[in-house]
Amino acid sequence: MSTASIAHYINGQMAEGLSGQSQPVTNPATGEVSGRVALAGGADVEAAVAAASAAFPAWADTPPIRRARVMFRFLELLNAHKDELAEAITREHGKVFTDAQGEVARGIDIVEFACGIPQLLKGDYTEQVSGGIDNWTLRQPLGVVAGITPFNFPAMVPMWMFPVAIACGNTFILKPSPLDPSASLLIADLLKRAGLPDGVFNVVQGDKESVEALIDHPEVQALSFVGSTPIANLIYERGARYGKRVQALGGAKNHMVVMPDADLDKAVDALVGAAYGSAGERCMAISVAVLVGDVADEIVPRLAERARALKVKNGMELDAEMGPIVTRQAHERITGYIEKGVAEGAELVVDGRDFDAANAGEGCEEGFWMGGSLFDRVTPEMTIYKEEIFGPVLACVRVPDIATAIRLINEHEFGNGVSCFTESGSVAREFGRRIQVGMVGINVPIPVPMAWHGFGGWKRSMFGDTHAYGEEGVRFYTRQKSIMQRWSDSIRGGAEFAMPTHK
Ligand code: NAD
Repeated sequence: MSTASIAHYINGQMAEGLSGQSQPVTNPATGEVSGRVALAGGADVEAAVAAASAAFPAWADTPPIRRARVMFRFLELLNAHKDELAEAITREHGKVFTDAQGEVARGIDIVEFACGIPQLLKGDYTEQVSGGIDNWTLRQPLGVVAGITPFNFPAMVPMWMFPVAIACGNTFILKPSPLDPSASLLIADLLKRAGLPDGVFNVVQGDKESVEALIDHPEVQALSFVGSTPIANLIYERGARYGKRVQALGGAKNHMVVMPDADLDKAVDALVGAAYGSAGERCMAISVAVLVGDVADEIVPRLAERARALKVKNGMELDAEMGPIVTRQAHERITGYIEKGVAEGAELVVDGRDFDAANAGEGCEEGFWMGGSLFDRVTPEMTIYKEEIFGPVLACVRVPDIATAIRLINEHEFGNGVSCFTESGSVAREFGRRIQVGMVGINVPIPVPMAWHGFGGWKRSMFGDTHAYGEEGVRFYTRQKSIMQRWSDSIRGGAEFAMPTHK
């Protein structure tokens, strides 16, 4: 099998890279190396920043409606090529094709939002703040901005960032995950075909070295990061040292509370899909079921049955429900957590380590396979409760009442997403008000906000003030300027030494 060479994309063209470094890209379903991705060093980052800086003045001066028209053409091209993009995602990430299609669709939502940028960039105007004086505020782009993205959504998470950043008039450098880098280049090609000027969107492939070079570069004005909490924290601190704008979205441990009055059939469906979909490699995956009162006795056996029956196979099979784990290292990490859960006394009801790769499909024997795992009687002191596993492992915690459930969730260090299944309006209302988590679902297991609402967690799931995309995204990628103006016929003579007031 031939291996593709996956390059950088700088100033409207593929760039082989100056560092001479690269690493293999693997198909997790088969374990085969499908390509080699370049790893950028300082010189590659310098070239990308130079291209983005050179493109900025003309792009920032392009009227918003013309920038929006480029987004409209990009949207049409994305819709025409969405399955190609989804296929590239499944090949390198492993998630099932229908899930990859869903990822692309949620990314497309943000492009649609960005098409409305002229309306979003309108300023505020106050006439006659004082005699003959008007005051208005407007928002201007920042310059060169960078996005650093995780492996688990190689198309959607970049699309949380660059459509809004570019539509606002910035130029953009994407640094995708080296585990599944091909989607970034397909996107770059579609943007070029949509008429985006060269240098407005660039891709540097790589890892730590390229990220540090981007943060340290004086011309990079702002950084959007999505990934694990330790790296999010590092990036936030390092960016803040230079006074840069940083939004750094981190890891998660999302709970789903099931109340005794919930529709249990729907709660079981929701838990199975949200825990094992995308092999649990979603920042909004449910990894803890908080079972209130006697719900556990009824629900755990049903969850076990469903976890054992999961269709775990090559993601290109259309009936697959769960694909492989992204890498061998991630597989080992998840296996280690399962061992730890057993050692610390949790009850392992279904052991995904028993899964036989031969059942995943032809040619999958060397892939990174496991089934869904289910733990019961997990307690808050256990490592599998405290830490993000980022794999197909669901932990059930039994609590006596909703107050204990809320306290448990609020005491967790992460606060990305949460859900509560109940038929009671007052429980739902109280839960929504009291819970210390950024994104809340009521009878919705994965409450990823729509494109115009913005995405962001609380606590150690996010560093920075403005959430991704939506109007918060527009604020992040622009800065406010206030202009106050008067003309000579309203200027009274003489110097004024007192603080001006609205006389
Ligand atoms: P990661 O933190 O390992 O990598 C994220 C990005 O940072 C990648 O581009 C990677 O190349 C880069 N990177 C890695 N190590 C670095 C270092 N030392 N210095 C600078 N850059 C570095 O995350 P991942 O494994 O790709 O993704 C999974 C994680 O992302 C999970 O923790 C998940 O919860 C989180 N995530 C969060 C959200 C969210 O919205 N909060 C969304 C998706 C994923």
